[in-house]
Amino acid sequence: MKPHPIISAVDLQKKFKVTTRGHSSRLLTALDRVSLHLSTGETLGIAGESGCGKSTLAKIMAGLLMPDAGKVHYNGTPLSQLSQHEKTFFRRKTQMIFQDPFSSLNPRMRIADSISEPLKIAGMPALLQQAELERIMSAVGLSKDAANRFPDEFSGGQRQRIGIARALAASPEILIADEPVSSLDISIQAQIINILLQMKIDYSLTMMIVSHNLLILRHICDRIIIMYLGSIVECGPPAELFKVCRHPYTEALIASIPGLHTSTAVKIVLLQDDLPSALSIPSGCRFHPRCRHAIDICRHEIPDMVEYADGHAAACHLSNSLYG
Ligand code: SF4
Repeated sequence: MKPHPIISAVDLQKKFKVTTRGHSSRLLTALDRVSLHLSTGETLGIAGESGCGKSTLAKIMAGLLMPDAGKVHYNGTPLSQLSQHEKTFFRRKTQMIFQDPFSSLNPRMRIADSISEPLKIAGMPALLQQAELERIMSAVGLSKDAANRFPDEFSGGQRQRIGIARALAASPEILIADEPVSSLDISIQAQIINILLQMKIDYSLTMMIVSHNLLILRHICDRIIIMYLGSIVECGPPAELFKVCRHPYTEALIASIPGLHTSTAVKIVLLQDDLPSALSIPSGCRFHPRCRHAIDICRHEIPDMVEYADGHAAACHLSNSLYG
């Protein structure tokens, strides 16, 4: 029996009004009919090019942004139907880590106060707060003398440790990380990823990791969702996606990873043209202007998401003929 989803989304839609030079305001499609679920204890990766809607999806799942349509469910109940008390509980149990943790830290607060804030809000007695603060700081690799310093005194990697520590202080069930290592040096990336993996075990976390780095997601995720221009085009376990992907966009993303030698990647698969503007989503399969396999039906009919194996699904009219 599959574990029940702790958090799920049904038919999320999100558009943003933007004003470009010489035009009146127009609507940019960030998400279009996005549905997904995370089972308890699962790590789900969200991948795709910049502008595909990954970060918007992360914020909506964390309850930081409202969708225009569709619903996010927490333990089976739509967020909109949670009582005020339950909403507060959801916000505490669902923590988010950002690409730039500096933006989420108060520059005038000492690190000890920033990390302790969720402990105070949760009503932890003052006597226990100091011990818990020291335990969390040690767990993420921050020394005791960091406690009295301010955010601008730290490097990017240390700030990310602080961001993780602050999230952990809320005793979360769900951790949503938006490009948590993309601005860090490679050696620091590995350290932060290892901290996240250890925290997942120590806190029994369910995690959603947004990244454009498929290799990182392959390393840490149970499943990966591939997004393109606001829609999900494929999802599946990493081993299966890297062995037998079922969508030309996934194939191109994997083939673009330097030095990766898999049966898929050895083929030269180039994306044609740049990512189209989300202000003007192509008809039919939105990937068709860049797809070297596109035929007439691709330009007119939106492909359904079809499940090909347990947990592995893709939205492509030609998936069977291309990938068997
Ligand atoms: Fe390419 Fe057509 Fe498949 Fe879209 S539906 S990915 S255009 S083959």
